[in-house]
Amino acid sequence: MPVVSLLDTPLHSLRGIGPRMLKPLERLGLKTVRDLLWHFPTRYDDYVDIVPIAELSGGTQATVAARVEKIEARRSFRNRKLTVTEAVLRDETGTVTATWFNQSYVAKQLAPGTAGFFAGKVSERGGTLSLSNPVFERAREGGDQRHTGRLVPVYPETRGITSRGIRYVVMPILQELGSLPDPFEEVMAGMGYPSRLDALRSVHFPDTREEAARALERFTCEDLFLLQLSGALTRAELIQASSPALGVPVEELRSMVSSLPFTLTGTQKKSLWEVIQDIGKPHPMNRLLQGDVGSGKTVVAVLAAHVAARSGHQSAIMAPTDVLARQHFETFVKSLSWLDGTGALPTACIISGNHGELVYPEGLRSTVKPAKVRELIAAGKVDVAIGTHALISGGTEFAKLGFVAIDEQHRFGVEQRKALAGGRKTVPHFLSMTATPIPRTIMLTAFGDLSTSLITEVPSGRKPVRTAVVEPSGRDGMYRDIEAELAAGRQAFFVCPLIEHAEFDATLSPAAQAKREALLEAKSVAQAAEHVRDALPRRHVAMLHGKMKAAEKAEVMDDFKAGNVDVLVSTTVIEVGVDVPNASVMAVESADRFGLAQLHQLRGRIGRGEHGGTCYLIAESDARAARERLLLLTKVTDGFTLAEHDLRLRGPGQLLGASQSGIPDLAMQHLGNAELVKKTREAVSQALAAGDITKGILLELKRMREALHRE
Ligand code: ADP
Ligand code: MG
Repeated sequence: MPVVSLLDTPLHSLRGIGPRMLKPLERLGLKTVRDLLWHFPTRYDDYVDIVPIAELSGGTQATVAARVEKIEARRSFRNRKLTVTEAVLRDETGTVTATWFNQSYVAKQLAPGTAGFFAGKVSERGGTLSLSNPVFERAREGGDQRHTGRLVPVYPETRGITSRGIRYVVMPILQELGSLPDPFEEVMAGMGYPSRLDALRSVHFPDTREEAARALERFTCEDLFLLQLSGALTRAELIQASSPALGVPVEELRSMVSSLPFTLTGTQKKSLWEVIQDIGKPHPMNRLLQGDVGSGKTVVAVLAAHVAARSGHQSAIMAPTDVLARQHFETFVKSLSWLDGTGALPTACIISGNHGELVYPEGLRSTVKPAKVRELIAAGKVDVAIGTHALISGGTEFAKLGFVAIDEQHRFGVEQRKALAGGRKTVPHFLSMTATPIPRTIMLTAFGDLSTSLITEVPSGRKPVRTAVVEPSGRDGMYRDIEAELAAGRQAFFVCPLIEHAEFDATLSPAAQAKREALLEAKSVAQAAEHVRDALPRRHVAMLHGKMKAAEKAEVMDDFKAGNVDVLVSTTVIEVGVDVPNASVMAVESADRFGLAQLHQLRGRIGRGEHGGTCYLIAESDARAARERLLLLTKVTDGFTLAEHDLRLRGPGQLLGASQSGIPDLAMQHLGNAELVKKTREAVSQALAAGDITKGILLELKRMREALHRE
């Protein structure tokens, strides 16, 4: 069998893997030999140093290789609820007692005569040594080295298959592989790493921890290499592609800006100018606009859409949720009146779920079916389309799309652009807007294809938000303060974490999985709302969660905005960007569970009006480290600094939200490793300059992009 296809061989066609094993492997997402070999251990248990029983010493951690001489389970004399299992273990050098508490099943598993390895803490009492609660592994007949007597890999497991089972299938495959094509051979050899096959062997069955780490580092470098190559190639590809040049005379732009009811902040102006310059070029813009919640990103996108409309092109503005899409729509409706008299006016529409609406340049609004809206878009009779992703799903084709702005979606692939452009040769310009502060190292590696604009100020006239860390014992005081604010006519957000996550189950469709997640979210929110109602009995408390229909959510938000609801309880899943100027209080339950940058984004929801605001971070744990982390938020007001702290304290995964970031796991864990990032970046430049990007590497890139839905 040729080796190339061996990696793509489905596991079911291998000898020795029966249906009983296939099911759980599939549940882990492992379908081919490649999947299996790239299912790396999360840690290694150390069975290397086996200590002769005679040489055990108290207070150490040790593994002995011994035979069970005697074993019995009994109730404790002092505490009748406690079972104690005691075994006498013997090797050639002596005997030692092993003790397990409340694990009476051990006696059934370890009949006298069983040989195995026992690893645990050696405790000493009255001069006698014993092993307490040791982990044990039976010795295999014939002394097979798969599971014991060495560094033993421990894998992500699932119901129906243990690490032992995974080792059992991985080992023979690695033994049988005589060679393996290595698309990164030269790149990795240049950096002094082992070959791909050696690295795979070392990752699964290393002799030393150093060997395992070195091998894992090679694979990390592969991912970092591909990630940065992806950015460089996308950039190059976009320079090749063409887009409509969108522009208005500078005078007209100036007059648009001065028609706004407020003065743009300095960095808003700068960002707007960067966007306008980009979309004026005949090549697609690919830009990320970063700015805290409330810093005024939407206005930049809205003005760009007006410019596009005046140049005869359509725009799409998209948000991750219905509520935010509606908010963008309302902003756009307002902008129609602000810009009145400055030129030809666009028509806007919204699709979110099953709602369609049109607003004419004069401000007249009408409700229409989404299907009808799509027709109008395709016929070029709508200038600006605003909505959730429903807007572009279902094969909507724009007649002359020139500009796309999306909230909190960092990427918009060339293929996606082409699909929307409906077969035309030009692709739209793209602006991504995000409130997530992304540290520079991550920007360079994971988002190398994007240019950036930064809004660093909040619009003037806004009062700063005070942040307070509340100890579990300080709740009553907090409720008193909040009650006083509410009595003065203000409103409050309560944010709670999910009590529990739905366990990932690959047998469920994404829709079914989302439904389970929504159910748990509803439960968390309902529970939190009950507490708030108890604590603030005079107040009108409403809830917002994913189990509610779009129309229900909209109704609750409208009620909140209108001031009919005093307190809105939700999880973070929802509406980070909502704009309610009268909301001056936010309380975050179990704040220690959130990232700093995320908490910073959340507190940006308040203090949007003239009232300023207070954000209460309720600590769940008394632990000092947790509290100190939260205290940073009382001192630091810059999102980027907080993001750097997150990166250091919790890793990049927490910062970006691992699932949707489009970054492979290994690279994700090491984005903060400046040295590896630099080394691989240089390797990419070298390979590009030398024309050394082989077919094999491109194939790997394609695989990575597909796996991560980057295109
Ligand atoms: P973001 O999307 O960055 O969270 P928005 O664009 O939604 O922020 O802006 C929040 C609110 O601030 C909106 O009501 C917007 O009209 C208003 N706004 C934007 N820029 C300014 C400014 N320069 N001065 C005053 N208000 C502004
Ligand atoms: Mg926004």
